[in-house]
Amino acid sequence: MRTRFSDIQLADPALSAAEHELRKCVHCGICTATCPTYTLLGDELDGPRGRIQLIQGMLESGAAPSPTVVMHVDRCLSCLACVSACPSGVSYPRLIDEARAHVERTFRRPRYEAFIRRALGFVLPRRWLFRWALTVGRYASDIAALVPLPLGSLIDAAKKLPPVQRRRELAKRYPAQGQRRLRLALHAGCVQEVIAPAITASAVRVLTRFGAEVVLVEGDGCCGALNHHLGQTQVFEGHALRLAQDVAAHAADCEAIVTTTSGCGAVMRDYAFALHAEEGKAVGERVRDISDVLAELPLERVDALPKLRVGYHAACSLAHGMQRGVDIPEVLTRLGFEVVTPSDTNCCGSAGVYNVLQPEIAHALQERKGEAVNALDADVIVTGNIGCLTQIGAVSNAPVVHIVELVDWATGGPTPQALRGRISA
Ligand code: SF4
Ligand code: SF4
Repeated sequence: MRTRFSDIQLADPALSAAEHELRKCVHCGICTATCPTYTLLGDELDGPRGRIQLIQGMLESGAAPSPTVVMHVDRCLSCLACVSACPSGVSYPRLIDEARAHVERTFRRPRYEAFIRRALGFVLPRRWLFRWALTVGRYASDIAALVPLPLGSLIDAAKKLPPVQRRRELAKRYPAQGQRRLRLALHAGCVQEVIAPAITASAVRVLTRFGAEVVLVEGDGCCGALNHHLGQTQVFEGHALRLAQDVAAHAADCEAIVTTTSGCGAVMRDYAFALHAEEGKAVGERVRDISDVLAELPLERVDALPKLRVGYHAACSLAHGMQRGVDIPEVLTRLGFEVVTPSDTNCCGSAGVYNVLQPEIAHALQERKGEAVNALDADVIVTGNIGCLTQIGAVSNAPVVHIVELVDWATGGPTPQALRGRISA
């Protein structure tokens, strides 16, 4: 595609990278059919090809976009199904990320909407504040229907989340059991640590059980992904830099930086581009999802577990964002589980804070995913991203757990909380 950026515009690395991707797009439209918002709404401008055109116009002009352009940009889930489908190798994140940052810089949102976005970007990355907000949200749940969107949907979302869990104190370093085979840094994020800290605990147990020394890295408690998807670039870079500095200070000797939330992993992989600093490159090049690491460990199943039918939902951030996760069914099969996958491979509608900001679309995708998951008639559903876990958990007949919780249980760890009383050994 031809572009019309000035030399001054192209001196900006983010705009220059966006322009590079715009030129790759040949407008074939192959990506369109894989886009959840296009298949749901049937509007070309709610598909990747249409959005790319809108983004090009907006970035080339450099001016504030119209509310209609912002609406179509906002409706993108960043699920990146379009990236997997594109035969021309268009890196769509370079476009949608720059588009969001541009909207944030130039467009004046209605006050209420701007407030909600700022509040989400401020509260969620701070565990103590998020814990407090969740508690308040539960007390306010009776008035959710009376409050305008998206605050009403925020309160509604708080009501559906698992009870706030006290975070245990984490050590900085966990020794390997037996002979040490490798040394890994484990990233503990923000939201997951508040609503499901058991996931990090499971990861520590599994990794150390099979010979890894584990170093916990947290930065200031958030990798910045939430702010990144809200277009809050400076805040994102602040979180990212502090995490990269933590890694440099405490995990320089680790073979990999492991994440248990693929939504974080997909963003951390791009730290080199985002930070333009050596620390960012050192993180980006070494980030691995826990499922990749599990596939390489000599996992052994303990006796006396029931043979369960496990439904595997591939998180978009893992399948498309990190282009990983293909080994998960094999890992689970190796541990004696029967693995089935849902017919609907679309995004579940969680997508960070999308389910709060775009509740109608998120709800439609959630319903679609719920039907597909329930049709599996599985004993348990597994996934690798906290957003999917809560989004699907609200509509699934079977309990939903993180992959590493199931692997931990199968190899000698405790029964995951969600399975207690629902699965008999
Ligand atoms: S598939 Fe790729 S090249 Fe074709 S329209 Fe979509 S982004 Fe552009
Ligand atoms: S990231 Fe997902 S929602 Fe956004 S354009 Fe691509 S396929 Fe559609």
